[in-house]
Amino acid sequence: MPLNIPVTRTTSPKPIPADVGTSFGGYFTDHMFLMDYDVDRGWHDHRIVPFGNLSLHPSAAAIQYGQSIFDGYKAYRCQDDIIRLFRPHAHLDRINGSAARLCMPAIDQADVLEAMVRLVDLDRDWVPRQPGTALYVRETMIGTEGFMAVRPSRRYTFMIFLSPVGSYYAEGSDPVRILASEAHVRAARGGIGSAKAAANYCASLLASEQAKAEGHTQVLWLDSVERRYLEEVGTMNVMLRVDDEIVTPPLSDSILPGVTRDTALALLRGWGERVSERQIAIEDVMAGIRSGAIAELWGLGTAAVVSPIGYLTYRGETVTVGDGKTGPTTSRLYDEITRLHTQAGDGPHGWRVAVPS
Ligand SMILES: *Cc1c(COP(=O)(O)O)cnc(C)c1O
Repeated sequence: MPLNIPVTRTTSPKPIPADVGTSFGGYFTDHMFLMDYDVDRGWHDHRIVPFGNLSLHPSAAAIQYGQSIFDGYKAYRCQDDIIRLFRPHAHLDRINGSAARLCMPAIDQADVLEAMVRLVDLDRDWVPRQPGTALYVRETMIGTEGFMAVRPSRRYTFMIFLSPVGSYYAEGSDPVRILASEAHVRAARGGIGSAKAAANYCASLLASEQAKAEGHTQVLWLDSVERRYLEEVGTMNVMLRVDDEIVTPPLSDSILPGVTRDTALALLRGWGERVSERQIAIEDVMAGIRSGAIAELWGLGTAAVVSPIGYLTYRGETVTVGDGKTGPTTSRLYDEITRLHTQAGDGPHGWRVAVPS
């Protein structure tokens, strides 16, 4: 049954940027969706309101103890001028997985998808038109109950807001420089690394800032126990080609199950590539790059889509991946995934959901 979502329209619409450039999160649209939860009433008060600040208890669980999760994906203006969401169901499944890990309540996926479609429809003029751009859809759930004991909050707010975004990296898909971190890990075995939890991001900041200060773009994260096996790169999943095999680390409780990773695996298998989800050790990656067996290494995520890695530094040694330029598998994946995002028609697998005007 369609939800009754009351809409309060803004009385002061903002100017829509003519060109978002390379902005990621520099602009927010005019409206947002909110709903609240408490243990007695479940989710209630679904509403679309003007985009604006929240009012929170200073002792809210999200602020004090980090009960805060999010998810994000993009809506594209396609070649037939229809706006479509890319794989929203996969992202809705994932936010419920994140919620379960942090003892937060599940959302009703059908209700939230309906809210997303209505919100994107209301702010549809904000979906940018330039190639490489999109409307980023950010979902967030926070614990809002004000208390001091450490236990799950009994109240939550769930919100969706929208941001027109450009290409994530300043140089588009120019290969990046990464540093394999020995001192820091992103996520511990048994921890919350497979949840899209706010806390995982602040856990990554120090290593990332130190790497940037030394001229690297991102950190290559190794596993927390042996500090050997590749896990992720920055806030992306990682994949590489070793001779005729494509390798990506298997999902675990310290790896975020990326939707872009899943899309890439489906495409690669469809092309007849030999794909392995297996552990790969940093010393084997360094040796493979030195010998030329590994000539391509890339990151995968919604923001940058496919991000080629040109240089890898580990224990003071820097190796150039291939010729330091974007390789053929990396380019083909980038081209094919971005084509899937914006092509006319609903496309395969029920991955895309149209926003009817
Ligand atoms: C969001 C995220 C990814 C990429 O997931 P997508 O669904 O492809 O956007 C990968 N790693 C981490 C740590 C993330 O937070």
